[in-house]
Amino acid sequence: MKKEGRLEVITGTMFSGKSTELIRRLNRYEISGLRTILYKPAIDTRYAETAVASHDKLMRQAIPVSTMEEIRMHLSDKTEVLGFDEAQFLPSDIVPFCHEQAQYGRIVIASFLLKNFRDEAFPFMDGKRTVLDLMTIADSITSMTAICTYRETETCGRDASRVQRLQDGKPVPYDSPVVLVGGKESYEPRCRLHFVHYAENKHLIPIR
Ligand SMILES: [Zn+2]
Repeated sequence: MKKEGRLEVITGTMFSGKSTELIRRLNRYEISGLRTILYKPAIDTRYAETAVASHDKLMRQAIPVSTMEEIRMHLSDKTEVLGFDEAQFLPSDIVPFCHEQAQYGRIVIASFLLKNFRDEAFPFMDGKRTVLDLMTIADSITSMTAICTYRETETCGRDASRVQRLQDGKPVPYDSPVVLVGGKESYEPRCRLHFVHYAENKHLIPIR
């Protein structure tokens, strides 16, 4: 009988524990005897070049890739579970690839940022598709939030569904470059109330 594959996506904001959740699921599959592989975009070298590390320092070996050819090259006939960390930094063709692999009978788990600092769907590296396309073909979607760290007299502490990119403590202009891999110093999780929205955001402009 043909095995039933599936695509699980883990999405949300920065600092929401996406990588931790991805590593947790891969570890579980591995304990149950399945052969796993973890990929990460070569562009993301925040903590290590050949490992995925979550913000809480949980680590796992990962293969750095930047093209679809590299992804296929490392895939073996025996691989049963594929994990992708920070999938938004991969090419758009990761979408049909994930579908193909799930159809073939493999378990695919993709973790990615839902939105960029403009609060718009994150485009893949070539800009041809956005991560919403990966959500559309997924069999399960886990949406994660961070904690709003906006502070007046005390830290807000609400669920943060967005991330504000800051420069000298102020939100950056809408036309700042989208991709900038960084740590806590330039990005802050914000709740709806404390996120400074951009008037240029196309989703918020009524269609005439
Ligand atoms: Zn808040």
